[in-house]
Amino acid sequence: MEERGSRLFDGRDGASTATLGATCPSATNRLDAALSHTLVVMSKPTISPSLYGERFNCPRCGAFSHQMWGNLQIEAKFPNGQRGYFTRATDFSDAEGAFAVEGTSVHSDRDSAEPKWAYSLCSSCLQSAVWRGSVMIFPAELTVPEAHPSMPEDARMLYEEARATLPVSRRAAAALARASLESLLREIEPGNKSKRLDEMLATMKTRFGDDLWQLLTALRVAGNDVLHGDRDDLVVLLLDGEADVVIEPFFGAINTIVDKEIAQPARTQALYELIPQTKREAAEAKALSSGSLPEAVSLSQPSPEGPHRA
Ligand SMILES: [Zn+2]
Repeated sequence: MEERGSRLFDGRDGASTATLGATCPSATNRLDAALSHTLVVMSKPTISPSLYGERFNCPRCGAFSHQMWGNLQIEAKFPNGQRGYFTRATDFSDAEGAFAVEGTSVHSDRDSAEPKWAYSLCSSCLQSAVWRGSVMIFPAELTVPEAHPSMPEDARMLYEEARATLPVSRRAAAALARASLESLLREIEPGNKSKRLDEMLATMKTRFGDDLWQLLTALRVAGNDVLHGDRDDLVVLLLDGEADVVIEPFFGAINTIVDKEIAQPARTQALYELIPQTKREAAEAKALSSGSLPEAVSLSQPSPEGPHRA
């Protein structure tokens, strides 16, 4: 991500960067830093894998990369008159009757050769995906969004593991997503002394709003109970294969928290610091004298340059 970020940064319009930089270089850099992740996400091509596609986002490494294609084949053995047998590679198909074995020879039925199996090879990571007709069989397609680019590292690892696990086990995915949520909440509120996730969430209901809070509570219960074998209604849904509608919003909810609690404040702060210091101080002094502070100030971190905010 860092590499992509710096490439994007280098490619930005030089004139506008220079103009802003002449006004306030450090603020411009902070704005760039805060916005670069967002811009990277916006500019990163997201083309889903498709059969014989020339370029798409690799299902193995995620890079937008050139793809090479080949058909999966079997070696079929055919009688060859007086001289015995010869072999010929034939596109593999799992259709009924695609191949017939007679003695030691294999006959292919070309009419029933669909669907064919193929592989795509990523030029970036040199790993393959396997296709049956137009459907990618391996790796199973990931149906939930990637981790938010501003997600802290520990929560991200758990999130990505949950995401990759989902096609194989919804229960394992729910447990990992719950662990990601807990890691994230401890990261954004390190001062929260609650030992348990339910206690932490109880203190955050107003902060997150009802909808998000209810979704997080559902994730907490699902992720917890699948591990402990409790079979309440939500866990029964997970166990009984109807979880597609249930579990995917959990991932969206985790990304929403990252955006709301980490990315948005960073963007706000970067924009706010573009205001000349004297005007910021005047605005803050006015807000203080009227008994309130602007939201940007209440969200701000102490700046290393040390602007004196009243
Ligand atoms: Zn790849």
